[in-house]
Amino acid sequence: MGRIRVLPDAVANQIAAGEVVERPASVVKEMLENSLDAGATAIRVEAESGGRRLIRITDDGHGMLRDDAMLAFERHATSKLSSLKDLQSIATLGFRGEALPSIGSVSRLTLETRAPEETTGTRVEIQGGKMIKCEEAALAAGTILTVRDLFFNVPPRKKFLRSDQTELAHIASLVTHYSLAHPDKTFELHHDYRELLHVTPVGTVRERVFQVFGAQVLDDLIDLGLREVELKLPPPHPHAQEVAPEDLVRPFLLRGFVSRPQVQKYNRSSIYLFVNGRLIKDRLLLHAISAAYYNLMPPGAYPFALLFLDCDAEEVDVNVHPSKTEVRFRHSSFVHDFVRDAIRGSLMEARPASELPLAETQRPQAGAVLPYSEFTQTMENARLELPEWRSVVPEPTAGALGVGEADLPLFMGRAAPSGDFLPPAAAAPVAPSVDVAPSRLKVPNHHGGAPDGVQLDGMPSLDVLKDLRPIGQLHESFIIAAGRDGLWIVDQHVAHERILFEQVLKQRAAGRLEKQQLLIPMVVELTAGQQIEYARIADELGASGFESEPFGNRTIAIKTAPVDVKPGQIERILFEILEVAERELRGASLDELRRNIAASIACQAAIKINMRLDQTKMDWLLARLAECEYPTNCPHGRPIALRYSTREILKGFHRI
Ligand code: ADP
Ligand code: MG
Repeated sequence: MGRIRVLPDAVANQIAAGEVVERPASVVKEMLENSLDAGATAIRVEAESGGRRLIRITDDGHGMLRDDAMLAFERHATSKLSSLKDLQSIATLGFRGEALPSIGSVSRLTLETRAPEETTGTRVEIQGGKMIKCEEAALAAGTILTVRDLFFNVPPRKKFLRSDQTELAHIASLVTHYSLAHPDKTFELHHDYRELLHVTPVGTVRERVFQVFGAQVLDDLIDLGLREVELKLPPPHPHAQEVAPEDLVRPFLLRGFVSRPQVQKYNRSSIYLFVNGRLIKDRLLLHAISAAYYNLMPPGAYPFALLFLDCDAEEVDVNVHPSKTEVRFRHSSFVHDFVRDAIRGSLMEARPASELPLAETQRPQAGAVLPYSEFTQTMENARLELPEWRSVVPEPTAGALGVGEADLPLFMGRAAPSGDFLPPAAAAPVAPSVDVAPSRLKVPNHHGGAPDGVQLDGMPSLDVLKDLRPIGQLHESFIIAAGRDGLWIVDQHVAHERILFEQVLKQRAAGRLEKQQLLIPMVVELTAGQQIEYARIADELGASGFESEPFGNRTIAIKTAPVDVKPGQIERILFEILEVAERELRGASLDELRRNIAASIACQAAIKINMRLDQTKMDWLLARLAECEYPTNCPHGRPIALRYSTREILKGFHRI
């Protein structure tokens, strides 16, 4: 007798479950997708003990017919796909027919379902993969799936689960994700009988973002609008089958929101990606986002992004992994560049500036309250060593939710902040003997309200830069300027850095970099590592103004330098470029290398802080800054200008 056997179904299902069901949130994901595929308009998720004890998902979708309810637990039983050809153009979220049998094999599961066309429904009970009951039941149309004691029969799996709060965080993140992708549907999440999320149908993603994250976050986001690009396929081989001309054009659509560069997160957990409505994790798209923010954010910082990419189903392969969270694009570099340019274009158009940071209690920074994302987090844990999840600003406490762990999604905090806002008088009784409370006296009329003609607009925009009037310097480092929308503070060093950076890049692109011939070539000694890098990038260095030639062993002679660079700075710039090249740019594109060289030149050659500037110099600097394509941040991502808005000033003086 041979040695090979076909595994019994129960074993095969448990093996499949290993890939499909990693934790309670995976169950929630599969079930949410099933409910959406079933056309549900309202989905309710309940969990107990982080989903270990119970997960229940109730939907109002088209339910299942009696026979189907049993068949659904067979491996590879699906109503969504019938031929190989369908696989190339899947319009549903599910298609592998693996989820229900997998989940059924590692839990005690009850399925209650009724199709509207049947008068009674069906209840099926499965325990550890065995069907123990199947009966008729009086049920509302739709489906209720209850999963109890996940992994009760797979103790090693159970051991890998984290705390209830962490598991709940993953579940909450998923429900949030899907609620963002489907603003026209109701989503509810309850944990241990507490409501954590409840959003009702709205007309736009924007309104849904507001429901989930609140106005504060929305203020910090830039709407991409609808970006569209067409990929033109080459005409087929003359002998190949006839192809209709419209089939040779593949449209790609991108919608969504990205944060202003000032919102900086320390990992990718606030990046939400959907491709054709499917929640995915994808290195290519993550890279495209980073590339869009290149030189606008410090290295290691990430934005918030909620992106919906839609394309022809044939352009993307979703059948890459059983959990269906990975995809493969057919024309990956096209997609990458489209997403990068669309985001970058929106950032440029918005030209967003920073507000002067106010006290935390008055203005919690967006991004701090954004939820944890299972997908991106798992990926980071696996492949990147990044610092613990933390926001730029301290986390608001999760106390109001009754769950305290730092990695909990905090979006539910949209309800009133936990400490009730009491008027100051009620909060702290005024000491009777001191009469220093002028704010309590009636304000006389001649104090006036707001000055005439002030502008109280919302998000600060660097479009006002061209109208700024410099008033003077603070600490000989920051230019103070009056603008129509408030008071501006400009960091003179980073402002000049940005100006030089763009100038060098522009001249480099046009192939006419202004450079100076050095009277005596400068001889620089390199280490072995630097020597290797130098050999690699010498041509690009030359084109960026540093012409050089080898000068004996590990020594080079530099003959020219860009105009703005002083001879004393040459060596430092060169070393910086070589170091960055070695550290970061292996395998980086030529474009990135160029940007890095330009950034190094700009940083060294720019006006320093602690330097007095006269009026003409300040005027010149602001005028040049206004002409920059992206005057928001220095090439390393620090903000250039801060605005103290007229509104805040008026508020501070109690004039509004
Ligand atoms: P897939 O989603 O890949 O088809 P599943 O194992 O997740 O596989 O589900 C099997 C089948 O059960 C689905 O194809 C669908 O017909 C049916 N089904 C599952 N969940 C629901 C639901 N909530 N409402 C209606 N039908 C469902
Ligand atoms: Mg499914």
